[in-house]
Amino acid sequence: MDGTLSQNDLSHVVEADKAHVWHHLIQHKPFETNDPNIIVEGKGMRVWNQNGKEHLDAVSGGVWTVNVGYGRESIAKAVYDQILKMNYFAGSAGSIPGALFAEKLLAKMPNQSRMYYCNSGSEANEKAFKMIRQIAHKRYGGAKHKILYRDRDYHGTTIATLSAGGQDERGAQYGPYTPGFVRVPHCLEYRAGDQGAPTENYGEWAADQIEQVILREGPDTVGGLCLEPVTAGGGVITPPTGYWQKVQEICRKYDILLHIDEVVCGVGRTGKWFGYQQFGIEPDMVTMAKGVASGYAAIACLTTTEEVFEMFKDDASDPMNYFRDISTFGGCTAGPAAAIENMRIIEDEGLLDNCADMGAYMLGRLGELQDKHAVIGQVRGKGLFLGAELVADRDTRAPAAEKLVQAVVGDCMKQGVIIGATNRSVPGYNNTLCFSPALIATRDDIDQIVEAVDGALSRTF
Ligand code: PLP
Repeated sequence: MDGTLSQNDLSHVVEADKAHVWHHLIQHKPFETNDPNIIVEGKGMRVWNQNGKEHLDAVSGGVWTVNVGYGRESIAKAVYDQILKMNYFAGSAGSIPGALFAEKLLAKMPNQSRMYYCNSGSEANEKAFKMIRQIAHKRYGGAKHKILYRDRDYHGTTIATLSAGGQDERGAQYGPYTPGFVRVPHCLEYRAGDQGAPTENYGEWAADQIEQVILREGPDTVGGLCLEPVTAGGGVITPPTGYWQKVQEICRKYDILLHIDEVVCGVGRTGKWFGYQQFGIEPDMVTMAKGVASGYAAIACLTTTEEVFEMFKDDASDPMNYFRDISTFGGCTAGPAAAIENMRIIEDEGLLDNCADMGAYMLGRLGELQDKHAVIGQVRGKGLFLGAELVADRDTRAPAAEKLVQAVVGDCMKQGVIIGATNRSVPGYNNTLCFSPALIATRDDIDQIVEAVDGALSRTF
């Protein structure tokens, strides 16, 4: 830490925080007796808190966000220069970084050609739902208005995105929900037994379940299918072989728009620009947020094919025939300015390759832990987006108790390594340790993370 604030100033910050800040996802009662963890500074893979304690961050800012690591001066400078020149104008007008980032990113997404700017992953997903609904009205008299989402996926925290949420604990107590969202089964092969699914050709079986739901609901009522490419908070679920090809076929067969939620995977997390590119599919819409500017500015985007854009072309007979939506801060220039520089860093430093290489290395190291600790039922993931599912019994695959999973996270924290775990998401299955170090991670960083987990597992189980 550079010591910019004295210890007295920091004590005041802690008091002010305790008195006034309503933290995300923190229970109030224990917070009354514990000091908040105030992150004061970050550099590369590491952060320092108010007590000067250093942590290796294995979760990129807690929630899969800071893909290029902390303390990037060139991003700070790009934002500074841009906002001095022109900070904001409503998104009905254009901006220099808005146009240039769209061009640069869409060049990496062969079938996508249009970009809509907003601020958060939830908001981007809401926009996609609105587009699907409006298309249903324009083309099908409103009939094809239903949107399918998958068990264990998450698409955001607003009422409509919670209505499309496959993690029941996140949605509990916030009903009634928005109608028109219909759930399809998850595709976690490790849990095929719980679904009564066959172990042979599981990918095809899981995709078939989507078709069954479409047939049950009536294909002429279903307009969209929203899926995470690799499910994040629902347990780091990499879809099985054969799944995506079938899903794409089903969407084409029934004229259903395929909306891929890349809020976590987008912009490098799996070792390719987008998670869907791991599986060779061509979505109609893509939403992204966290990695777009690595948390240096608040930006989220929704991209679409030209075909989807064309569906909103003005028609003289219908004055409502355009996407009647706005996002005030979608007009901020700080977001795309940071995003352009974020992308330049990923390209110039070869971070996609590093992510793929280090991801393979880390998966191997976690596999060694699995050989040593019976509590690890499965390790899985793509690139630097990995999970280790903990079980009480390898044969029955009964999930490990949530309290013990959280104890592993707490033990790593004490050792100065921040890891994550699925938490308050899927009832009964909050049992997966999550890892998403920045794409700059080295072997030494990964060794430190794995050794911390090794020690924590030995002490906890
Ligand atoms: N979609 C996915 C897959 C996410 O993991 C999240 C957040 O974690 C969101 C959407 C919501 O994004 P935000 O928190 O920016 O609204």
